[in-house]
Amino acid sequence: MKLSWRPGILEYSIRELVPIAKSLESKGKRVIYLNIGDPLKFDFQTPSHIREALKKAVDEGYNYYSRSQGNSELLEAIAEKERRINNVPVSPDRIIVTVGVSEAINFVMAVFIEEGDKVLLPGPTYPLYVNFTKFYGGTPIFYKLDENNGWQPDIDDIKSKIDDKTKLLVLINPNNPTGAVYSRKRLEEILDVAAQHNITIVSDEIYDMIVFEGKFYSTASLSKDVTVIGLNGFSKTYLMTGWRLGYIYVHDPVNDMGEDICNAVLKLAMNRLCAATPIQKAAIQALKGPQEHIKEIVEKIKNRRDAVMKIISETNCLEAVKPQGAFYVFPKINCKGPWKDDRDFAYKLLLEENVLVVPGSGFHALDKTHFRTVILPPSEILEEAFEKIKRFIKKHVE
Ligand code: PLP
Repeated sequence: MKLSWRPGILEYSIRELVPIAKSLESKGKRVIYLNIGDPLKFDFQTPSHIREALKKAVDEGYNYYSRSQGNSELLEAIAEKERRINNVPVSPDRIIVTVGVSEAINFVMAVFIEEGDKVLLPGPTYPLYVNFTKFYGGTPIFYKLDENNGWQPDIDDIKSKIDDKTKLLVLINPNNPTGAVYSRKRLEEILDVAAQHNITIVSDEIYDMIVFEGKFYSTASLSKDVTVIGLNGFSKTYLMTGWRLGYIYVHDPVNDMGEDICNAVLKLAMNRLCAATPIQKAAIQALKGPQEHIKEIVEKIKNRRDAVMKIISETNCLEAVKPQGAFYVFPKINCKGPWKDDRDFAYKLLLEENVLVVPGSGFHALDKTHFRTVILPPSEILEEAFEKIKRFIKKHVE
């Protein structure tokens, strides 16, 4: 019996080195995990009113299947949030609730991609975009994010890579793994190019509220004539990573394919019945209840970002663009050591110093000279981890 080729193409480097980390732990070593963008693994907790809403939903009997599209009150609350905070005029019937943005990425690729289609993805990118493009027979094409220009998308590179097979262009803003927040001008230029070539944009905005500097613009809010599929969720802003809830909305300003896209996504949604009903009830409270925790987490992560940037600036061989949002720094390794490439750097760093980072090639970076670290742990842990990274580099390079 032969299994399908599909699982073989799925790669998720963020968790690839974890078995080695676990085996080090089983030998008594203490590993510092800087690989996963999950605040709840550190000193962050789901706000109490959201936890209470979940308990209440379960106790009050909201334990049945919901509508596949999502709970109506939640769809209203998402539309209201997108209108008020992100200036996106989306109606509840153009929203589908998903099991995290992860499921939303799968759904979008399933609905659009056929054998031979091309998807323009940022280089570096979040790996699920590559995985699901390939899963449905498409080809990922990477456009350059320009490190010398704060990791903004390179518009000429985007133009040069479009052809008549290009179906989707993906933006991740604020960006994982670089932490860049895209300028209004750059988003407008990208929208112009998409309009000229009739390309739909997928805009992953899961970090929309985690912004330290600069202003975040939602792509759909700037689009007058391009269909924009917005992806967002509750994992990051509402500290609900393990609860698995997200959504897709379709902004279709010229009333072109919006309804067809929603109906197609809904067919997929029906086949998995629904996202968890009590979690959806809690998400309504997340959107409607107190929002103070957002300011607090942004401040906390910003301070940790500053601590990391300071150590990087004092470390020979490392250089990083200061992230303006999200949870990550993406330093460049600027010298040659006994490591073959970024993967080997991360592997040797884990074995020798027990610090787990993700190599840039895990995000399909266009060169193999970066790693990604989260900036979520308390400053003293980040400082300890970077002292070890410093020692590792010093040992091998100086
Ligand atoms: N998109 C981006 C850019 C992410 O960084 C992540 C998680 O880290 C996801 C999507 C997946 O998020 P979710 O927890 O909603 O599935």
